[in-house]
Order: sequence, then structure tokens, then C-alpha cells
Amino acid sequence: MLELLEKPNKEINVFFPVKLDSGKIEIFKGYRVQHNNWRGPYKGGIRYHPMVDLDETCALALWMTIKCAVVDVPFGGAKGGVEVDPKKLSRSELESMTRAYMRAIASDIGPTIDIPAPDVNTNAQVMGWMRSEYQKVTQDNSLGVVTGKDTRNGGIEGREEATGLGGYLVLSSLIRKIELPKNPTVAIQGFGNVGSNIAKYLFENGFRIVALSDSRGGIYLRRGQFDVLAVRKCKEEGGRIAGCYCVNSVCDLGNKLKFDGRDVTNEEILELPVDIVIPAALENVITMQNAAKIKAKVVLEMANGPTTSQADKILSKRGIVVVPDILANSGGVTVSYFEWEQNKEGQKWEKPKVARELARKMNKAFVEVWQIAQDQKVSLRQAAYILALKRIASRLPQN
Ligand code: NAD
Repeated sequence: MLELLEKPNKEINVFFPVKLDSGKIEIFKGYRVQHNNWRGPYKGGIRYHPMVDLDETCALALWMTIKCAVVDVPFGGAKGGVEVDPKKLSRSELESMTRAYMRAIASDIGPTIDIPAPDVNTNAQVMGWMRSEYQKVTQDNSLGVVTGKDTRNGGIEGREEATGLGGYLVLSSLIRKIELPKNPTVAIQGFGNVGSNIAKYLFENGFRIVALSDSRGGIYLRRGQFDVLAVRKCKEEGGRIAGCYCVNSVCDLGNKLKFDGRDVTNEEILELPVDIVIPAALENVITMQNAAKIKAKVVLEMANGPTTSQADKILSKRGIVVVPDILANSGGVTVSYFEWEQNKEGQKWEKPKVARELARKMNKAFVEVWQIAQDQKVSLRQAAYILALKRIASRLPQN
């Protein structure tokens, strides 16, 4: 079974032409990797990033198979992406590229076959274009062909915040089990969908957010804490987190001096003297080079694959609790599952129901993982894999 799971069921490589605003035609390279579907249709996000490649997409697809099994939603795992810097495209170019990518992969997609969702640099708008193009190509107008759609277009209330909320719920459960100071300090790398939403829930629930970053760098307050809601607004207006020294609803560079703040790099932010560090950007950021320098007591992996396996061993030896990605960030796919169910049944779930059902799923997954870790004296990551692999193995096809 392990040999089977090492390889994805299908790797799709596509090259597709897109006409840019200048009239020039550019060929883009995209991928969709379908890892495993023993537990249900393939499921996984679409990433737009210059570093997207087949290796990364395969790893992300495998983690989706494992994650869906940890949180026990009836999906397999997949992932897709396009090698592109979306910041360099106009809105109309982004739409044309998204539609062309969907045309290229449409024959392998479908509401009971493989269901894409948002990931890095994709959002409800991109999902809307994907669904519309799928409908054009196949004449199938099922809403459930993608998840993470706009609520006016078949999306579910609360999907946008789901990954952040799920992470917050898992962290809250963990804190009841381990010793941490009251109002723990937190550093978060990445301030997109996942980073900014978990920051908001933590801020609203008494955690002290002392460091934040995005791809252009980070900010840190040695004495004091950020007003996350004001930082979100500041980043929305200025397009970057640098300079958003917002405290008590006032964004002013003077706060930097007043609260002993300084700018930090994306490497430094992980090594700050905080209680909890949250990588929420890209993979492979905690490595052999910096694992010994991590000072936090807890690493909450909101990004997929932020810790290399060598670094994981170092963190574990040092007694740092790592909440693995396949548990910590599974709130997103869980609410995607609710959206898919809602579309299938022609229903509309209200936000309180989404939040209630998400909490039920996340708490159950945490308790199961925690119990295995205690009983078998293994890390939370190993426990999550034990739980997932048992569930996947029970569906091993007999023929
Ligand atoms: P996003 O595009 O909304 O945000 C990404 C953030 O990371 C941005 O703030 C960006 O500036 C920052 N970033 C990019 N490169 C960086 C770098 N080198 N250093 C520091 N920051 C950098 O993406 P997202 O949806 O928030 O996804 C973030 C991570 O969470 C990814 O690993 C993704 O796979 C994972 N994830 C996302 C979801 C979801 O529902 N969106 C679900 C599960 C896991």
C-alpha cells in the first residue's frame, strides 16, 4: 500500500497559449496531479506561482490525500498549478489564463471526479472563472465542480475564513493540553487568506500577535502587540505589510519606536522569541539550517509542508510541539466538503451551521490525533499519519 501511495495515480502536464493585452501570445505551463481517490473524488487547490513545478504539485497532492483522511472527509487528494507570477498579469490576462488552463484540464475534472479549490494566489473570482469555463466546455453546469466560489455563485458562507478558523480551533484544543503562558505571543509568516484569517481569530481571542510578514518582508513589536484588524486594512490599502505598525487601531510609524519595533525578514520572523510561530506562506521554510534557532514552544503549520523532514526531527528532539499541516490547515478542505454537499443537495448552509460543523470536525480530528500520539508515544505528525493511513488502507481496492 505504501508503494502505491508513493506514486500519484495520474500526473497531468499541460501547455496552453494565452493572448496577452499587448497582442503577444504566451505559452503557459500548468499541472494537475491526481494522487489518490480510494476515499472519494480527487480534491485539492490550484496554485499560481513562478515556482510551481511537477515535484511540488505531487507533494501537495499527496498531502491532500492524507489531510482528507485525517479530518475524515470523503475525498481523495489532488493539486494543480500554473507556473506564473500573477502579479505581472492584468485582470483580463488572469481571466484568459485561468480559462485556458481549465480548458486544458477539463476532461479530467468533474464534480464526482476531481474538484479544484483555491490555494496560493487564487481566490473565489478565479474559481468562478474556472466553473464558468468548465460549463462552456462540457455543458455541465454543476455548481460542485469547484469549491471556494463566491457566495453569490454557489459558494458557502465562511469558506474564506475556514482554514484560519480551523487552525485557531486546533490551537485552542492544544493549549488545553500543554503549558503555555496566558495570552501567548505569536509570530505569523504570510498574510494572505490563511495567515490574515488565523491572525484575526487569534487577535480576537486574546493571543498577542507581535510579528507579521508577507512576501515583501515583516514587522515586529518587541513590547506591544499588533491590532490585526487595522493591519489588514493597512495592507489592503498599501498592498504590503511593511510599515503597517498598527496598535490600538492607529497605524503610525511612530508605534515602531514607541513599542520597540523593527522590520524583520521572512527568515528572522521564524526565529523570534515568541510562544507560537505560524508559517502560513510556502513550504520548506523550517530547515536543517534554522531548526535549532526556533525559540517558540509550538509550531502551528498553517502552510503546507513548511518543515523539512530533517528539521522536523530537530524540532522534535528539542521538545517543540509541531502541529502538522495535515491537521492544522484541514479546515479549508472541510468547509470545501460542506460547500460540495450544499451544491449537491441544492441547499444553502448558514454561517453558524458552517462554524458549528467545522468545529465538530476539527475537534474530533484533534482528539483522535492527540490520543494516538499519547498511546503510541509518537509526535502529532506521526499520529496524524497513523490515523490517515489506517483510514486510507481500509479502502484499498480489492481488484
Ligand atoms: P495566499 O496567496 O492568500 O497568501 C500567501 C501569503 O504568503 C501572502 O501574504 C504572500 O505575500 C506570502 N508569501 C509568499 N511568498 C512568501 C515568502 N517567500 N515569504 C513569506 N511570505 C510569503 O495563499 P493562502 O491561501 O493563504 O496559502 C498559504 C499557505 O496555506 C499555502 O501553503 C497553502 O497551500 C496553504 N493552505 C491554504 C488553504 C486555503 O484554504 N487557502 C488551505 C490549506 C492550506
